[in-house]
Amino acid sequence: MSDWTELEDEAVRITRELIRIDTSNYGDGTGPTERPAAEYVLGLLHEVGLDPVSLESQPGRASVIVRIAGADPSRGGLVVHGHLDVVPANAADWSVDPFSAEERDGMIWGRGAVDMKSMVGMVLANLRRIAREGIVPPRDLVFVFFADEEQGGTWGSQWMVREHPELFAGCTEAISEVGGYSVTLPVAGGGTRRAYLLQTAEKGFAWVHLRASGRAGHGSLPNDENAIVRLAEAITRINQHEWPLEYVASVRALFDGVTEITGVSPDDGLEAFLDLLGGGRAFVAGTLRDSANFTRLDAGYKNNVIPSEATAHIDCRFLPGHQDELLDTIRELAGEHVDLIIDQLGISVDAPRDSAFVASMQAAIQAEDPDAALLPYCLSAGTDNKALEALGIHGYGFVPLKLPADLNFAMLFHGVDERVPVDAVRFGARVLRRLLDDC
Ligand SMILES: [Zn+2]
Repeated sequence: MSDWTELEDEAVRITRELIRIDTSNYGDGTGPTERPAAEYVLGLLHEVGLDPVSLESQPGRASVIVRIAGADPSRGGLVVHGHLDVVPANAADWSVDPFSAEERDGMIWGRGAVDMKSMVGMVLANLRRIAREGIVPPRDLVFVFFADEEQGGTWGSQWMVREHPELFAGCTEAISEVGGYSVTLPVAGGGTRRAYLLQTAEKGFAWVHLRASGRAGHGSLPNDENAIVRLAEAITRINQHEWPLEYVASVRALFDGVTEITGVSPDDGLEAFLDLLGGGRAFVAGTLRDSANFTRLDAGYKNNVIPSEATAHIDCRFLPGHQDELLDTIRELAGEHVDLIIDQLGISVDAPRDSAFVASMQAAIQAEDPDAALLPYCLSAGTDNKALEALGIHGYGFVPLKLPADLNFAMLFHGVDERVPVDAVRFGARVLRRLLDDC
């Protein structure tokens, strides 16, 4: 067996080198592309004798994929994926240069430190180990490094799944962001216990807009069919709607697990219960109900002209199984002179919580952190797992990071001074080693 320290060192080195390659995704086609990062990944893989494929959906929008054949071809393959892009960082807000990957206070600082170049570093270090040592995993492993996750995967995962589904043939499960990190729970009767939150579900999204119509006319004349007023009334109705609280199965499973450890029930006070989750609180708080937030507004073109149309965009997020219910509710609240137009839909994910693979993830965690629990949870945001779900591949968020109890982890995502503990990356590389060799 090779040296584990070598694996850990390589995961840390690759994480830092990736952060230094600015892959900011502005979402409008401007700025850098993923190509330099993809070329860096290709170099790392060629160096150990692998033959990866690089695909560009648009000039520069490169994704990299490579398959390692497993011992049992009759078993479904596992997709291990990460994204190469990051959200932009405004350097003036930061304590360090966001693309310097500085190591300070035991942390690696920089854009992508948690979202998600550290996972890509941990995965690449393991993939290189597998190649160097000629390891044959129990089943096929398909490693993918996607472009464009931060803009919904249009030029990355969505494009790959649509144009090259054959690359994922035979795969049944996947791991990627956002889950696997630890929270520290108070134990009933004293002491604490770490729980790793495995993302087994994610909310879907519906990016829609309302289009109110009315009677155009002169701004000086009476008009009781004003499109802007109709839109404003619809916005008010939708905004005042109280989306019902509902604990879907994955949320219920998390809550039951937390109650078992802490002795505290959400029925004793939901806010205090959520506070127990520390750095994972924000991720969970968004999964207790559907939501609809207005994000854009557009109407009119001149001060003395009443326009015939007015539009408002809504970012809707629905729990697994709630897509139709949410859209029906919005349509009804919008009213008779307001149409609902769906611009983009992202399906929800709800992967099995009891399976041999989940047991493997738990075993890999407990081999490195023996007293820890693994609890499922639902993510309020979306990941590239949505694209794979369309191929029937069950996606999990499993980036194993053993975190300090007081780290506000959720706030680091897309945040200022994004950073990751070096020891957490070392821990994650070891857990992934155990998982990939025994999955
Ligand atoms: Zn991400």
